[in-house]
Parts: sequence; C-alpha cells; structure tokens
Amino acid sequence: MIAQIAAATRDAFKGAGRRAIDFLMPPACPVTGERVSDPAGLSAAGWGAIQFIDEPRCDRCGVPFAADYGLGVLCPSCIAAPPAFDCARAAIVYDDASHKLVVGYKHSDRTENAARFGAWMARAGSDILSATSLITPVPLHPWRLLARRYNQSSLLAAAIAAETGARFMPDLLARTRATPPQKDLSVDARARNVAGAFAVRRSRARDVGGAHIVLVDDVLTTGATLSAAAKTLRRAGAARVDALVLARVVKGGVGAI
Ligand SMILES: [Zn+2]
Repeated sequence: MIAQIAAATRDAFKGAGRRAIDFLMPPACPVTGERVSDPAGLSAAGWGAIQFIDEPRCDRCGVPFAADYGLGVLCPSCIAAPPAFDCARAAIVYDDASHKLVVGYKHSDRTENAARFGAWMARAGSDILSATSLITPVPLHPWRLLARRYNQSSLLAAAIAAETGARFMPDLLARTRATPPQKDLSVDARARNVAGAFAVRRSRARDVGGAHIVLVDDVLTTGATLSAAAKTLRRAGAARVDALVLARVVKGGVGAI
C-alpha cells in the first residue's frame, strides 16, 4: 500500500512537472514548429511531410523503388557492390522534413520521440526482425557519448526491442577510436574513416557467435558506418547481420547530418 501511495505521489508530481514545463515551453511539432498537445507529437502538416518507406524497395539495401519490379529485386548499387550487411531497412526518407525530426532528436534532447520512432522502425523492419534477433546500436566513442549524454541509436534499439520482444543488447560493440564526423566526406573517405573503428566486446564474444544481429542507427547515408560494424560482427562469427535505421538518404535527397 505504501509503495502504491509513493508511486501515485511520484506520478502526480511528474504530471505537475510536465504541466509546468508545457506552460513555460509549449511543445512544438519538430517539423513545422506548430504547437501540439503531445510533447512527442507531430502536427497534421508535419505528419503529411514525412515520407514513409514501404514496398517496392531493394530487397538488400531497402532503397525505395519508383515502380514494382517484383520480389527479391536488387538496386544497381547492391548488384555492383553488395554491402557488408545482409539487409537494411529504413522507416522514412531522409529529406528536409525528416532532417528536422532527426536533428531535433539527435542534438536537442527530443528523446521523447524514441518510442514513436522505435514503433516506425519495428514496422519497417518486420521482415528482418524475429524474437531471436539481437538488437544492438552502432556505438558512439566514449568522448562523443560524454558530450551528447546519450546514444540516440541505443534509445532507438531499446524502443524496437520493447516493440518486438527481440533481445536488446546495448554493449555488443565498442568504438575503438574516435572518428571525425562523416558529414563532409566523400563516399570513399567515409569508408576509410570508419574502417576498423569497431570491436566486439570480449565479454560479448559468445553472444555474437551464430547470432542474428540487427544493427540500429539513426541515419543511413552511404552505409559505410553500418558496413564497418557489420564486418566486425561477421568476423566475430555472427550468422547474419542486418541494419535498421530511422531514416535513409535516397539519391537526389538532402545530404546527411
Ligand atoms: Zn540496394
């Protein structure tokens, strides 16, 4: 009974705290800036601006196709140079609208959106996720984690696991060296920048052997970071490595952050 009263009191204070914050800083749609009632909410116009990715898409990298070419079809890039991961899936196209959503989530502490994004990602990755998948984020270097205070990809991975019942394992990989941001690098430079930047934690080596691993990141641009992480997991004995991201760049779209 005492525990129930304590929990109710805590919830009441939380509610009062939230109302006070909402009064001082009314929640705004991260895409359009319009006022919304839910801190994790989007306005109607914000919803309309987001491009969700569905079939038809490349069976390997998940890039959306303009026309339906049938099941199991690959895009020219995957035929010419297959990525190191088995499949990649993305919830939304990375464009001007989703850029605001992702930047807000990544750099402005809008972490209340993680559950919503996790649900979108679980839906986008429904053909690669199973109850036996290990879901793990692309790790940040400890210095960057210290500066940002949270790993945005880890919050997404936890939300996907909560949505699907798959196993969340936040510490499979470690970043062995700090790498400059990929933002302004060419395709080749991006690959060189992250080559060998990851290692499987010794304490997790046994979990990786024979496992199906789903790597989670916020944005897929060229796939260089996810490929470098996938190679590391493959070398450590993973049976299959897929990638699941919130947003992906589609040729002709905006550049990455
Ligand atoms: Zn492809």
